[in-house]
Amino acid sequence: MKNVKDYIRTIPDFPHEGIMFRDVTTLFSDPRGFRMAVDQLVYPYMDVQIDKVIGLEARGFILGGAVAHQLAVGFVPVRKKGKLPGKVISQDYTLEYGEATVEMHDDALKAGERVLIVDDLLATGGTAAAGIKLVERLGAEVVACAFVVDLPELGGRKALASMNIDVHTICE
Ligand code: 5GP
Repeated sequence: MKNVKDYIRTIPDFPHEGIMFRDVTTLFSDPRGFRMAVDQLVYPYMDVQIDKVIGLEARGFILGGAVAHQLAVGFVPVRKKGKLPGKVISQDYTLEYGEATVEMHDDALKAGERVLIVDDLLATGGTAAAGIKLVERLGAEVVACAFVVDLPELGGRKALASMNIDVHTICE
């Protein structure tokens, strides 16, 4: 039987020369692969109190929506700057080259809510760390961050551990 990893393909030199891009569209488009990935993201949290799932733009929306449905909780998007229509809070973070900003609606979470953050891939952890800060600024609590892929050499797990955040990943 195939594992989740077997459905992910690597595209060399995308988006820049020298980058090996892990392409999860081939995982999402396969009925068994997608179901397996969502199930494996959900399993550790089936008996844990989670009030909301947060998805990080863009592939975190696809996975996070399915995870929220499985856990029977609501879904909240963290989006790139300028995409959300209501009043937002913003968080800047550092990319390999330059800076970026993510946003969340300022009424998306209630203080004390327990959330699970979902994305496709953990690299440096910068994107997830920005999402964690948005959640914590609204007084909610991050129970864990769950990803399909971990790129361990980029240190994301350690970066999130230093923020006292549990990390769940399916494959490396
Ligand atoms: P980080 O902020 O942890 O350095 O980078 C992770 C973010 O960049 C995630 O939102 C992820 O979707 C995206 N990302 C970076 N590299 C890759 C890759 O090789 N494949 C995919 N699918 N996403 C990537």
